[in-house]
Amino acid sequence: MICPVCRSDMIVVEYRSIELDHCNGCKGVWFDSGELELLLKSQGLEETKAFFDGILNSQESLSSEKKRKCPVCGHKMKKGKTGGQPETLIDICRDQHGLWFDGGEVAQLVKYLAAKHPSKHDSKAQVMDFLEEVFGASG
Ligand SMILES: [Zn+2]
Ligand SMILES: [Zn+2]
Repeated sequence: MICPVCRSDMIVVEYRSIELDHCNGCKGVWFDSGELELLLKSQGLEETKAFFDGILNSQESLSSEKKRKCPVCGHKMKKGKTGGQPETLIDICRDQHGLWFDGGEVAQLVKYLAAKHPSKHDSKAQVMDFLEEVFGASG
């Protein structure tokens, strides 16, 4: 799959049967529809489903960020906000092929979700371990 930002060939990373595409060039991550939910579910953060549905069905967010094209269908994606501070702006295919996170945004989102669910602290640690392992992301 070709990175929608820098046009590099992305590498497929597999973790507990969840596949995602990672760009070595810009450190962005593409989750096929449902894969991100699977990841969070595997970490016990499945109550975030409503949260995701909210993002997927959210109105287009106004942003100066450049519009990106879905690596699956090539159509322009819409910007969606995930909430949290700072707000994470992700790109979502309107045909629900998946979601695009710029480098570091997945970690931001996980931190935000874990903060909302203090009892899921272990999950946060696990996902952060995963991110570090896969992406070499720090903090
Ligand atoms: Zn890239
Ligand atoms: Zn698409």
